[in-house]
Amino acid sequence: MITEIDPSSKNWVRQWIVVSPTSGHEYKVSQKVDASFACSCPAWKFKKAPKPPCKHIAYVQANVGVDTRDVAVILAEAGIKMPPVRTATAITQHREQAEANQRRAAAAAWDAARDAATAAIQRPAPPSTQPVFLLQTQRKIMLAD
Ligand SMILES: [Zn+2]
Repeated sequence: MITEIDPSSKNWVRQWIVVSPTSGHEYKVSQKVDASFACSCPAWKFKKAPKPPCKHIAYVQANVGVDTRDVAVILAEAGIKMPPVRTATAITQHREQAEANQRRAAAAAWDAARDAATAAIQRPAPPSTQPVFLLQTQRKIMLAD
């Protein structure tokens, strides 16, 4: 049996009490803002991540109309605004990363230009590979009278 209840804290968007028909135990299945599910049963609690849904979560998912659309769409439709902190942080981090990359690129370009200039200054003039021929001829020509 599934009974939807009001969420017990702001961490949850929906909560259900699931009563096991065999044991009569009650477990609380919860859905978080990120649309993931959790259960209060020991089988789910003590599983290591990534956790497959326990039978209570699976039961809720199979029997309750669970919205599988993107969480942002669901929240926007419900008029819920997420705190902009995360987005602002992401934008700031991205900008800082881009600026750091630019600084690195500029520094690398400067180093390359300086190295090229240093090499050009220190390089001796290349020796001439053209042989020089000096040709001198002297010829006496006897003219007939
Ligand atoms: Zn469970």
